[in-house]
Amino acid sequence: MRIESDLKLGFKDVMIRPKRSTLKSRSQVSLQREFKFLHANNNWQGIPIIAANMDTVGTFEMATALAKNKLITAVHKHYSIADWNMFMSNTSKSIGDYIAISTGIKPNDIEKLASIINSNPTIKFICIDVANGYSEHFIDFVKRIREMLPKTTIMAGNVVTGEMVEELVLSGVDVVKVGIGPGSVCTTRKMTGVGYPQLSAVIECADASHGLGGLICADGGCTVPGDIAKAFGAGADFIMLGGMLAGHDQAEQSIIEEDGEKYVAFYGMSSDVAMKKHKGGVAEYRASEGKTVKIPYRGDVSGTLQDITGGVRSACTYVGATQLKELSKRTTFIRVTQQINNIFGAS
Ligand code: 5GP
Repeated sequence: MRIESDLKLGFKDVMIRPKRSTLKSRSQVSLQREFKFLHANNNWQGIPIIAANMDTVGTFEMATALAKNKLITAVHKHYSIADWNMFMSNTSKSIGDYIAISTGIKPNDIEKLASIINSNPTIKFICIDVANGYSEHFIDFVKRIREMLPKTTIMAGNVVTGEMVEELVLSGVDVVKVGIGPGSVCTTRKMTGVGYPQLSAVIECADASHGLGGLICADGGCTVPGDIAKAFGAGADFIMLGGMLAGHDQAEQSIIEEDGEKYVAFYGMSSDVAMKKHKGGVAEYRASEGKTVKIPYRGDVSGTLQDITGGVRSACTYVGATQLKELSKRTTFIRVTQQINNIFGAS
């Protein structure tokens, strides 16, 4: 046993220090970024925010809505090949730049992935997603997919430490997904005791990936637009959002009405609800590592998007960043013990 006593921080432990700026208005700030991916060797331009590959968030409807604003959707892995072909055949081909196909690492996942991408070669990203990115089997899978799809941008994870980020980048990953346990409906930390505070994970993993020419996606734990600004400030190239994009019309969910208020269910992809829905139940050897919550129905996602982009744009003006790209260079975090004045309630 060993104890590391360096302090590791989450979003709640810091704020971004304001800096003198020549910017007159937030409308002068561009949130678009342009990347050239290390292995896929292709370019991408857009707002680097990704809807999570959860079946209540990463839907085809969400992809249609977010692509209009050049944001990406990691489409969940439970659509059939026929669903994919149908969606892509009546949709403008340019949507492919803003779609990631999610996949697990089982043998039949490869066949399904190959079929979707062969029929729809305009899709730019795939997202290889496992709860625990520390297994050799995962690395081997990533290498196989890189060989099979040399020109597709591969996003894969999740990990939280530099040495594993390096191994993934060297194995063919363009964008390493970072985050174990910070998610809004994740119970991994409670069930296993394993995790890493997300802000420190992002800082350390970004450093490791950038050193090799790779990128990272901060996945999980953003609760307000300010957290997104902090994750970009910490060095995240992309940010994945679950809870912040949940509860909208784009979620393909039934609305529950109670006492005149409207709600929808939101659940983790390893929750017993998700496992029952997609796998017929929780396998005997494992416990659920996700929970189910009832959240207020929030209508169309466009209002939420405006809040998110408005908040991040404003953060850029506070530190004098004309482009999102400059935000991290201009960020100084200060450690704090209190963030928000709650006199009128937590929100
Ligand atoms: P959020 O933005 O809601 O805080 O976090 C979203 C992320 O939580 C997802 O992208 C995914 O990485 C993670 N996640 C989703 N469902 C589960 C789950 O059931 N268990 C765990 N451990 N993580 C989950």
